[in-house]
Amino acid sequence: MTNKTPITIARGDGIGPEIMDATLRILDDAGAALKLEEIEIGQAVYQRGVSSGIEDKSWDSLRRTKVFLKAPITTPQGGGFKSLNVTIRKTLGLYANVRPCISYAPYVETPHPDMDLVIVRENEEDLYGGIEYRQSQDVMSSLKIISRPGTERIVRYAFEYARANGRKKVTCMTKDNIMKLTDGLFHKVFDEIGAEYPDIEKNHMIIDIGAAKIAAYPHMFDIIVTPNLYGDIISDIAAEITGSVGLGGSSNIGIDFAMFEAVHGSAPDIAGKGIANPSGLLLGAVMMLVHIGQGDVAARVHNAWLKTIEDGIHTGEIFRPRVSREKVGTEGFCRAVIERLGQMPQKLKAVNYNGVPPGGMKLPPLKPRKEEKKERVGVDLNMNFDGTPEELAKCVLPCVGEGLELSMISNRGVKVWPKGQPGTFCADNWRLRFMVKEKGTQVRTSQVIALLDRLNKADMNFTKAVMLHTFDGKPGFSAAQGE
Ligand code: NAD
Repeated sequence: MTNKTPITIARGDGIGPEIMDATLRILDDAGAALKLEEIEIGQAVYQRGVSSGIEDKSWDSLRRTKVFLKAPITTPQGGGFKSLNVTIRKTLGLYANVRPCISYAPYVETPHPDMDLVIVRENEEDLYGGIEYRQSQDVMSSLKIISRPGTERIVRYAFEYARANGRKKVTCMTKDNIMKLTDGLFHKVFDEIGAEYPDIEKNHMIIDIGAAKIAAYPHMFDIIVTPNLYGDIISDIAAEITGSVGLGGSSNIGIDFAMFEAVHGSAPDIAGKGIANPSGLLLGAVMMLVHIGQGDVAARVHNAWLKTIEDGIHTGEIFRPRVSREKVGTEGFCRAVIERLGQMPQKLKAVNYNGVPPGGMKLPPLKPRKEEKKERVGVDLNMNFDGTPEELAKCVLPCVGEGLELSMISNRGVKVWPKGQPGTFCADNWRLRFMVKEKGTQVRTSQVIALLDRLNKADMNFTKAVMLHTFDGKPGFSAAQGE
C-alpha cells in the first residue's frame, strides 16, 4: 500500500501515552499505511490556561485529516474547565458513539460468556450540553436537550448499523415514564424510524431495568440505542462485565469526521506503571482502519489480538490463574500481539472486514419536518424567595395583571400552590406558572414584560422566564407533579 492516510493522534493523559505507544507499534508492524499528525490535548493544555483543553492549531489538524485516534484524557473537575471529550464530539458533530461489548470466554473470565452487544450512544445532546445554572443560593439546575433531528440520526444509525452488521434486534432505552417530553421524543422517534425496518426486531425498555438486565442477562441484547448519559453509564457496565473496561474500543462517528478511542478513561491509579491494557485503544484503532478503508490491516490486527487473548497472554486486570497463561504488562502484551500478526484465532471467531465500504455508513437525509401550529399560552417564571408557598402567592397575586392568571407554583418540580401538601420540602427557588385566562387567546410579549415590571417594582426576585407553547394544541411543557 503506497498511499498513506493522514490521521491525527493524541497521546492524552494518565495511561494514554503508554497505550497509544503500544497501539501505534502494532499498527505499524501490521502494515497500516498511516501518516500521523500528533496534537497535544488534555492536562498539559489545561495547565497552560486553555480552558477547553485543546488549542486552535490542533483543530486545524483535525479539520485536515478528519480522522482522530485519541487516547483518554483526564478531565479536571470544576474550575471552569470544560470536558474536552464532549467539546471534540460536539465541535466535530460526532453524533454516534458506537461501543461493541463482547465477551471472550473462556479466555477472559466473565460471568457472561455469551455476551455480544453494541451500544449506540447519542453523543451530542442530553445533559452533556453542560448548560447549567445556579438558580438561587441553594439550587443548581442542568438543562437536558433532546432534538428530533439529533434523535432521528442516532436511531437511524442504530438500525442501519444493525442491517450492515447482520444484527437482528435494536433495543431503545429511555426514562420516558418520567421525562415525557425529552425521553418521550426519543422513544417516539425510535418507534417511527423503527417502523421502516420491519426486518429488525425492536423493543423499548426503561433505562433503570434495562441497565439491570444488561448487568444480569447481557445476552438478551443485540444493539442498544439510547441518549447520551444513559449510554455513557451502560457502556461502562457492559464493557466491565465482559471482563474489563480495558477491553472496550469505541468509535465516534459524524458526517464528515470520526474519532476512535477506548471506552475507559485515563486510569490515573495505574498510570506510569506499565501495566495498562492497551486493548481498548487498539480495538478503537481497528475500527479506525476499517473506517479509512484498510480493512485487511484491521483484520490482521484484530485476529492477532484475538489469538493473543486466546493464548492466555493477559494484562493484570484480566489475568486469572485458571484461564490465563502469562501475565504481561503493556509492553509484553504489545509484543505478543506483534508476534501473532498473520495468525488467526483457533477458538474465538476470527474477523473479516472485506467488503466493508470505507468512510462509514451513509445515512439517508432527515425526514422532512411537519410544521405544527405553535401558540404561546403562558409563561413560567423562576423566583428566589424565602417563605411559604402561601406567602409567595400573596406577594405575587397583586402583580398578575390583565389576561393572565397564576395557575400554579411548584418547588423542585412539585406543585405547592394552590392546595399543596403540607409536608413538601421547599428550597429557595420557585417556579410560578402564569397562563392565559381565556382559552383560545395567546400571551403577548408586552403582557409578560409588564408582568416582570410589576414583579420588579414589588421587589420580587425573578431569575428566569420560559415561554409556554402548545403545538397543534398539545402542551409543549410538562405539568408539575401533583398539578
Ligand atoms: P477509568 O476508566 O480511567 O478507570 C476506571 C478503573 O478501570 C480504574 O481502576 C482503572 O485502573 C481501570 N482501567 C481503566 N482502563 C484500564 C486499562 N486500559 N487497563 C487496566 N485497567 C484499566 O475511569 P475513572 O477513574 O473514572 O476516570 C479517570 C479519568 O478519565 C477522569 O478524569 C475521567 O474524566 C477521564 N475519562 C476520560 C475518558 C476519555 O478520555 N474518553 C473516558 C472516561 C473517563
